[in-house]
Order: sequence, then C-alpha cells, then structure tokens
Amino acid sequence: MLQLPDGLRRRGAAVALALEKEGFEVTLDGNPCYGACDLSREGLERADVLVHAGHTPLGDGGDRVVYVPLRLDAGLESVEEAVPLLRGRVAGLVATAQYAHLLPGVADLLVARGIEARVGGPTARTPLPGQVLGCSFGAARETGADEILYLGTGTFHPLGVTLATRARVIACDPCRGTAEEVDPDRLLRRRFALIERAREAATVGVLLSTRSGQRREPLARRLAALARGRAVVIAIEEVTPGALLNLGFDAYVNTACPRLAYDDAARFPAPVLSPPEFEIATGLRSWDDYAVDEVG
Ligand code: SF4
Repeated sequence: MLQLPDGLRRRGAAVALALEKEGFEVTLDGNPCYGACDLSREGLERADVLVHAGHTPLGDGGDRVVYVPLRLDAGLESVEEAVPLLRGRVAGLVATAQYAHLLPGVADLLVARGIEARVGGPTARTPLPGQVLGCSFGAARETGADEILYLGTGTFHPLGVTLATRARVIACDPCRGTAEEVDPDRLLRRRFALIERAREAATVGVLLSTRSGQRREPLARRLAALARGRAVVIAIEEVTPGALLNLGFDAYVNTACPRLAYDDAARFPAPVLSPPEFEIATGLRSWDDYAVDEVG
C-alpha cells in the first residue's frame, strides 16, 4: 500500500508504477492523508508493507510501515533576511520536517554572525532535531530562547510556535527567500470572539476522531463533562464544514487534529474551539493562560 499526503498525491502514479516495475503489487490509498497520525487503515490491515510518504514517524507504527520523509532543498536567503530582525544574540531554531535537515547550516550561518543558535529535540512526536509539527512544539520550547527562527512555509506553524513558547518568532520562508516577524494578535482576537460566542451555546458537540492516531477519547469525555447537560461527544471521521452544518450544534470542541480548529475556522458554520479554548469558555482556564492545542 502506498500512502501519500495531498500535496504529493499527484506523484502517486509515477511512484506506484515504479514500484510495480520492481515486482511489487501496489495499491495507492486514495483517501485524504493529513499526517503520520493517519496511517492507511487499509494498508495496515491488508498489505504486507505500508509505504507512508511525506511525514516522519509518530511513535511505533510497527515494522510493516516504511516511512519516506520528504526533504526539500533550498537556499538560506530567508535566514540572511532574518538576521537584522533579531534583537538579541541568542536564537532558537525550528523547522517543519521538510526543512529540518537545513538547520545545521542555519546554525552555522548564525554563529558566523555572532549569534548563539539553539536547537531543541528530538521529542517523542518529532524525531528530527528542531522539528515542529502542527500538534507538537516541544522542540521550540526546549530551546528556552526568547527569539526563535522558524524555517518553513505557511502561517500556522510559526503562529503555533509563538503561542506555545510566547517567544518572538521570525518566520523564514525558504521558497520565497523572505523573513518576517509573526504577529499572533489578529488570530487571538478572532479566537477570543469565537470563545465568547461559544459561551452562549445551548448545545456543544465534542468532536472525537475515529482516526486511531487522532483519537483522544479521555480528553473528549473530560471536556464533555465540563458542560454537562449541553455537550454530546460526536464520533467523526472527517471534520468538514458540511458535516458540522448537518449536525446542527451551536458550537463544537475539536479533539481531532489540533490544526482543524484553526485552519478552517472561517468556513465552519459555528464556533469550533480547541480544548484549551473550551476550558476558557467554561471558566476552567483564564484567558491569560491561553495555550495552543498540542498532542502528547
Ligand atoms: S494530529 Fe494533525 S498536526 Fe499532528 S501529525 Fe496529525 S495531521 Fe499533523
């Protein structure tokens, strides 16, 4: 069984045909795949070997799973751009899995400019030094740095790093060669508004993923107990705007992949809070203790 994340799915035909040429009987898993938390059920149950590409291992997948992480090569122009933005002489370094192999080169560049570079990890969920995941920022915390350089694309991970560490984060985009400081204020204002709306909800759906690697049942049950009489645990495979519209709850708490609550917020028909946000809505946690949702 060959399993590729959405961004690599179009390479599936070429990879599958190349494996067939080597004598393997290959099935390509056509379902969406979001991370190594989401190993192909079909592959685990029916294939001799599951080849899971694009992600690093998350714990023990067993010896029938072959992980093929993706490494992207890029220049370090974005880091050159970031150096003048640093205020101190110590910087933590983090990256997504695709760019983590570039961090030793980033560290050398910083040291040559008189800046101490700190790399945390590996951690249980992030096997590469300096690696962060959308659900795990332990490597960033381990640096203990007040300023952190994030190497990667997109806005979610650098926002997660700043929310998880409270450090000043400079996002270096290796594709565009640019660097900019991350400002979490807009995101936090939007999240605050969602929390306020959820306080008024007469019904709350606690989303429990049926994907084994994203299933956090004790957490879902604990959260439902916080709003007894209003909350119902919902077992769900795909958390989509359409699915939530059909369920018709006034608000939801997401215990599946932490990114879902943030990434699709504008498209959901009702507030979808993260577990720490729901704790704020129910009065268990104060706004000052706002935390990004992490797994493990
Ligand atoms: S839970 Fe989400 S962020 Fe974490 S590995 Fe799975 S898909 Fe990625």
